[in-house]
Amino acid sequence: MPKHDILMAYAKGAEFDPAAYFGESYGPLISAAQDSGKEPVIRFLNSINGIELVGAAAVQPFADTAPTSGNYSTLVFSKQLSPAVIDEMATTFDLPGLRLVAHPADGNLSITLTGADGAAVAYLQWPSKKPGAIIFQNVRSYLIAAASILAIFLIAVLFTGHTAATNLYRLADRARFKATHDALSGLLNRAGLLESLETALDQRASSARVMTLYLVDLDGFKDVNDAWGHAVGDELVKLVADRLRIFESDDAFVARMGGDEFAIGRLGVVHGKTIQHEILALFETPYLIGGRTIEVGASIGMARAPGEQIESLELVRRADMALYRAKEEGRGKAVEYTEQLDAQRRDIAALEEKLRQAIASGEIRPAFQPLIDARSGAIKGVEALARWNLQTGRVSPEIFIPIAEKSGLIDQLGMLILSTAIDEAQQWPAITLSVNVSPMQLRNPNFAAEVIALLHAKRFEPARLTLEITEGTLISNPDQVKRSINSLRTVGVRFALDDFGTGYASIGALREFGFDRLKVDRSLIVALNEENDGADVLKATISLARALHIPVTAEGVETPQQAETLRQSGCDLLQGYFLGRPMAADDVTALLLVPTTIETRRFEVK
Ligand code: C2E
Ligand code: CA
Ligand code: CA
Repeated sequence: MPKHDILMAYAKGAEFDPAAYFGESYGPLISAAQDSGKEPVIRFLNSINGIELVGAAAVQPFADTAPTSGNYSTLVFSKQLSPAVIDEMATTFDLPGLRLVAHPADGNLSITLTGADGAAVAYLQWPSKKPGAIIFQNVRSYLIAAASILAIFLIAVLFTGHTAATNLYRLADRARFKATHDALSGLLNRAGLLESLETALDQRASSARVMTLYLVDLDGFKDVNDAWGHAVGDELVKLVADRLRIFESDDAFVARMGGDEFAIGRLGVVHGKTIQHEILALFETPYLIGGRTIEVGASIGMARAPGEQIESLELVRRADMALYRAKEEGRGKAVEYTEQLDAQRRDIAALEEKLRQAIASGEIRPAFQPLIDARSGAIKGVEALARWNLQTGRVSPEIFIPIAEKSGLIDQLGMLILSTAIDEAQQWPAITLSVNVSPMQLRNPNFAAEVIALLHAKRFEPARLTLEITEGTLISNPDQVKRSINSLRTVGVRFALDDFGTGYASIGALREFGFDRLKVDRSLIVALNEENDGADVLKATISLARALHIPVTAEGVETPQQAETLRQSGCDLLQGYFLGRPMAADDVTALLLVPTTIETRRFEVK
């Protein structure tokens, strides 16, 4: 028996289920209507509410040609032969006592109402008047006329219904388009992409082809929105969509997943070429919006569905995973999904759990690296560096700090390090303490107040504390960062700009945020040894900072030559393996006990 899915059904304005309402005769009626082509089928059916006159016809949404197969939808209209309807017929045809009955009683006149299968479902019966035969003949034709009128009424209704159905189809089509497309770009939306993927994956199963999904995410879209406003952002999305559209073909579709994320699904031959480079190339030409030239790049995550059966959602998840990795690797990268990515993700999740416990149990502790006066060689301060030792070995802060940032543990971890570092530094009243602060901490509106409360509770002189922040901190939400910095500076806390020379922080930013110190990154110090203009860049940087009266620390000093050059270039503090590795608090105490004169330390430095 063919399946009869119900697209929509209404009775007196409310939805209902015709299959349940008409019972088992419903299916045969639909089949009869589909078999009879354009001609409507008129039958009497038993419903929950009694006998109904039902008309059904196959409808075809747009063309006016006769439906040929059973695949067309069927439009069904019905009218219940309620007591009111029977009464009306009785009045119209002057047949007092006209009734709808299951079996005609003896001595009455009746006509048979045939059901979907041609068998009688009920009878219209009325009392015989003398002389029976003649009246019966008259009335019989009346009743047949009545039934025909009803039938004509139904056909008219069917005809109107057909037009209505056509319109409904159009509306439904439009609604479907809306549901599967993105209004801004006109591309498929997420739902549309999933649907197209599903279809393509089915097609692929039947041919030796491979489906590749590319998720394309713009780099720096947020900056565009922040700098130029959402109207420009929207315009950019449209322009990007237009460029990506060149990939549309019979075997490929383009979608906007939302925000600044796009997707391209492409069905190709196995081991066929991938198009990530072509996609990236589309972003090489800047976009022109309202007279502005806007440069924006993209990162790509890709996943392939080879021979194995794969759900469209799983394919999207894989591409998403690869995209996430591509974003982590920096701008303009394309990464293909491998199972390793999943494994690494699981490792990170496991590490995150361990980190949570390590923070709770205070297992993560600071080590301290001396900051040495470039002239006297004396220890001027220490920088606290987080250390996490597991039985299996040491986990580098380069690994666990980003995990803490991503998992929201950084606030807790940061305060733990700050608080333990202060506890240790209490024993070294003559020197300063530097502590690293992650960008996310400074964006937390409570950060400044928490640090001030901590200093107060521990009676630690705020001027002895320097917070080291990287320029990444200054980029997003600079206003909140500025507020945090200002309230901490008001109580005397100092700020150093860490890793200077690795990014694009300008000297202007140094002034604007009021840094008390600048730390030149190790990469610039390393460049000193190479035969290029590294030394000049470094010297220029240092003299610029000095012109602004900002003292400079050099990090990563590994050789006496570097130390000497840096001292001569004007760095007042030096830090690096050559002058002291990060060490336990006790070692700092011991080191401070060794009487250092300018001569001894200088001897070491040289
Ligand atoms: P950073 O703030 O630039 O710290 C300096 C890093 O260079 C430290 O690595 C230090 O051990 C290393 N270093 C010092 N002298 C030398 C040298 O002469 N040669 C070489 N090759 N390396 C040297 P570490 O301890 O692995 O920390 C790495 C980064 O992790 C730090 O870079 C900092 O950004 C972050 N970090 C460490 N502790 C914390 C913390 O408590 N909070 C936050 N937010 N970040 C932290
Ligand atoms: Ca630092
Ligand atoms: Ca640094």
